[in-house]
Order: sequence, then structure tokens, then C-alpha cells
Amino acid sequence: MNQPTTAPQRSAEEEALHCIRCGKCLSVCPIYRETLIETLSPRGRVALYRATGEGDLKIGEVYADKFYTCLMCEACRETCPSGVALDAILNRARADLAHSGLLPPSLRRLSETIVAAGNISGEENEQRLGWTANLEARPIGLDHASRAEVAYFVGCVSSLFPASYSIPQSLVEILEKAGLNYALLGGDERCCGYPLFLNGEAERAMELARHNVAAVRATGASRVVMTCPSCYHMWKYIYPQLLDDGELDGLEILHETEILAAMAREGRLRFKPWPVTVTYHDSCDLGRKSGIYEPPREVLRAIPELELVEMADHHENSLCCGGGGNLETYNRELAQALPRRRLQQAQDAGAGYIVVSCQQCKRTLAGAARRERVRLRVMDLAEVVARQLEGESDA
Ligand code: SF4
Ligand code: SF4
Repeated sequence: MNQPTTAPQRSAEEEALHCIRCGKCLSVCPIYRETLIETLSPRGRVALYRATGEGDLKIGEVYADKFYTCLMCEACRETCPSGVALDAILNRARADLAHSGLLPPSLRRLSETIVAAGNISGEENEQRLGWTANLEARPIGLDHASRAEVAYFVGCVSSLFPASYSIPQSLVEILEKAGLNYALLGGDERCCGYPLFLNGEAERAMELARHNVAAVRATGASRVVMTCPSCYHMWKYIYPQLLDDGELDGLEILHETEILAAMAREGRLRFKPWPVTVTYHDSCDLGRKSGIYEPPREVLRAIPELELVEMADHHENSLCCGGGGNLETYNRELAQALPRRRLQQAQDAGAGYIVVSCQQCKRTLAGAARRERVRLRVMDLAEVVARQLEGESDA
């Protein structure tokens, strides 16, 4: 198993030279499997990257298409027998393209929206608290007067897309029941910058990183928790690459799965039985890219009568839901074709529920289940926990 993605040890050029063209990565690349186009395979992209370095190819729109038609899921890196860190090549190629003015129009619009509005949808950033509107009581995290223990960084999708509102609603319900003094950032929170980093625009992402770190520090919290694995990966592994030494000192970055597993271990979560068969889907950003596999499974195993089954591909071999790498913005049709295989695996495993720890996986898998008329329910771990806490009525 690879370590979580950290600062590259070798340059992209050195990584590319280590490719022995064995083709092992082709069988795990969701884009190649769907298109069967060699230049859209990991091996093909490495060859294109080398060709530009050797002066045999000039970068242009066709080259850009090859590198933006990628989920940045790192399945290829995981499987490569030569240890080629393909992410270093993919990130470098995208940065070269963005700096050369070759960002495709849809991704340029996304970038401009994030810079202007502070979020991916272009809404007023104050609208980030829309998910709190129909709660029975105003979340105490909005009124933290003094030093908070934990700041909850909600992320753009859960803040602004109504279909995801129940994820932050569930997490604050759990935090409040556990008596944790937490803070919400509201309009002071901005996009974590990951979509910009994926575009190849690290400098723009860095400005958002600085803003968000300052917003969290203003709450007095020494811990930040995220329900979004992309925000988590960005804060934990990319912010240290973008920011100066010491800028993150004293801040502990946590994902909801880590907090929930710790609370379950300490006996702070008491669950009522749930006699269902559940499978857990590892998101790329939390699993392969950040190395978190067991905490969510630990929480699910703590629920009495719940049967946890694994799909054919799990842990580091998990399949991308189709929602990674900004592909949905660049090529929606292709992105929407990808979750079918995952739904089939969940059905083959005999599951009635797919549990995820990612609002984007929930959105893409649930959307595909609806389109394909597959009888599978998709829930985030926070929703499962809030539903099964003792004292809650059945939803
Ligand atoms: S698995 Fe690694 S060495 Fe083999 S073709 Fe793919 S990138 Fe090259
Ligand atoms: S990151 Fe994922 S989609 Fe991109 S080349 Fe590698 S396996 Fe294929």
C-alpha cells in the first residue's frame, strides 16, 4: 500500500523515466476501461509527458484534453510495479497547462467563480449557512463566544447543495450530543482550494489556504474537522506544500471518520440495532490519497446487528465514484458513466446500503442509482451515526 500523497520526492521528469511501459496500470484506470483509448490511459499520459520533455510534442488543446480527462484517483500509482508516482506527472502536466493558458473553458470558469465568490457554485458566500435554516434549533457552533475545541470546516458541496445538507446537519447533531464545544465558520469559510490545485493553479489555491487557516485560528480551536475528504486531503497534505513552515503549527486536521471512531471507542456513541447489510465505499481522497480505511469500518462494526460486507474492490483498490479530478466539470457525460461498475459491485456483495464518508461520492453514487433504477441507498457515515444514536426515532 502506498503512503498518503505527500510532497513529491522526485520530479515529474524522473518519475516518467521510471515507466517500463508494462501496461499494468491500464486495467485499473477507470477512464481507460471506459474509453479504451491508449492516450487516455496512465501509460499513454506518461508517454505524452515524456514526448513534450524530449521536444517531440508541443502542448496544446489536444494534450490538455488528455490530462484533464482524468479523475486524479491515483489507482494507477497504487498498482504500478515500478513505483511511478503518476500523481506527480499529472499535477505537473496540469500546472504546465494552466500556466500556458490552456485551461479548458469550463475549468477556467470554475476557477474564476471560486476566486470571485469564494465557493464553487458562485453563490453569495454568506449562503454557506443555508443548511442550518431548517434545523429545530440554531447550531451552538454559530454562537461560540470563546475558545472552541474544534472548528468544523463544512466545505462547498455540503454548504451549498441542498441534497448534501443532511451531512453537516447530522455532524452538528452528533457534536452537540457529545457536548463538544465547536465552531462554524459560516461566511468566513471559503473553498479549500482543492479544485484550483487540481486545475494546476497552486498559487490561487494558496491564497484560499491562507484565508482558511486564519479563519480557523480566529475561533481559538486547535482542531479542525471536515466531513469532506477532499477538504481533508487538501488541508492535511497539500496545505503544508503551499504554505510556509510553521503556518499550520498547533492545528490538528481531522476527518469525521476519525472523530466518530474515537467517540465510538470511548463509548460516547451508543447505537441502537440496525439489521441491514451495508458495504463501505472508500473515497479516493480519504482512502488511497490519505490512508484512512479502518475508522469508518470501526464505527459501522459498532452498530449492533449491522452486517458489513466488502465489495470486490475495496481499501486501496477501491473504484473512483466518477466525482474526482474536476472531471464532472470538464466531461460530465463520461463522469456519469463511471459509477455503474461500483453500483454493480455493491449489488454483487449483497448490500442494501452503500455507506460513504464523502458528500461527492454520495452525490455521484446516489445520482447513478436513481438514473440506473438500482435499489441501493447511499448514506454518509455521519447520517448513519445520527440515525442510529440511541434516543433517536427511526428515519
Ligand atoms: S504500471 Fe507503471 S511502469 Fe507500467 S505502464 Fe503503467 S506507469 Fe508505466
Ligand atoms: S489518476 Fe485515475 S483516472 Fe487518472 S490516469 Fe490514473 S487511474 Fe486513470
